[in-house]
Amino acid sequence: MTVYGTRPEAIKVAPVIRALETSPHLESVTVVTGQHREMLDQVNEIFGIIPDHDLEVFAHGQGLNVLMSKVFERLDPVLEQERPDALIVQGDTSTVAAASIAAFYRQIPVVHLEAGLRSGDIHSPFPEEANRKLTSQVSALHLAPTPTSKQNLLREAIDESTVVVTGNTVIDALLHTVDQGLPISDPRLAGPVKEGASILLVTSHRRENWGGAMEGVGRALRRLAEHFPDVLIVLPAHRNPIVREAVLPHVRGLSNVVVTEPLAYGEFTRVMAASTVVLTDSGGVQEEAPSLGKPVLVMRENTERPEAVDAGTVRLIGTDEQRIVDEVGRLLTDKDAYAQMANAVNPYGDGRAAARSIAALEHLLVDGARLPDFEG
Ligand code: UDP
Repeated sequence: MTVYGTRPEAIKVAPVIRALETSPHLESVTVVTGQHREMLDQVNEIFGIIPDHDLEVFAHGQGLNVLMSKVFERLDPVLEQERPDALIVQGDTSTVAAASIAAFYRQIPVVHLEAGLRSGDIHSPFPEEANRKLTSQVSALHLAPTPTSKQNLLREAIDESTVVVTGNTVIDALLHTVDQGLPISDPRLAGPVKEGASILLVTSHRRENWGGAMEGVGRALRRLAEHFPDVLIVLPAHRNPIVREAVLPHVRGLSNVVVTEPLAYGEFTRVMAASTVVLTDSGGVQEEAPSLGKPVLVMRENTERPEAVDAGTVRLIGTDEQRIVDEVGRLLTDKDAYAQMANAVNPYGDGRAAARSIAALEHLLVDGARLPDFEG
């Protein structure tokens, strides 16, 4: 049984669910929590997944404790009814922490996809760092995306025989989607992408940046738009109203800023592949853009994804307004600085993470052979 709730979870579990459906030994049951309703449906559609259960836990403005308690209350009867042999969760949302504890209490083995990411600061990202540590504590199988994430788990005394390095399934999803060449439906984007315009792609949603930091991001974007009139700033706005209210007023009325609703995954990946620079606080985008050879500036103080920072394609720049203006400006004007960062690197996966995950699952449940680890 796979439980997931948000867009990034959906993108990263989709290759595993598709692979599960072709396994002769395993049967797939999917449960969505409905945390990001429309964004989730978009992803399920691209991958042809029709969820078996929907817990419908989402309500505007609800706190994390209410969300957690709803997952416990509504998942438990589904566990009782389906009696799965294992429960798969992905990543570090509050849904993941609640679902894995609920399964543990029912003595159902928990399989954690994208296990072992650590920022080292329990408050940042919040609440994700705590959620992923809680999930590691109750998991029977840890599917770590990289050798670094495996080392993080071993440092916490997780039994090595329960850790498999798979690569990140986001790369499987990206390759599957890019291969489909899905159309860009928004004419404000289709034209510039076709013409090879200079594009700054921006996404921002992290909870720890809500408030003053996000206002600063909005002001920085306005200054960049005014300073670089030939650069198109594309901002797919996250659905969260707190994010929208902080950023959007600052960029209103600027002709070279295109604010969109969250883009369908196929469309987003095409715009990303056509971008000059990516400015983001997203985890998934930090993993995808390097494999497309795009320089990524990350608006955070730390990252649990050091691999592309080490490879030189990702730089952590924080959320200071002036720093954002300076760092983006440098990449747009200094060819050498740009060339140093614009290297296609694949430290996060080779597109075979789902196959390794299924092999590890079959090994756990039906004694199949594991595949060799992803080596990074
Ligand atoms: N994404 C998308 N449409 C958008 C923005 C992002 O499909 O308009 C995808 C992106 O390619 C990545 C994932 O959503 O795979 C990242 O989601 P998000 O930034 O919400 O979450 P995080 O990765 O930070 O947990």
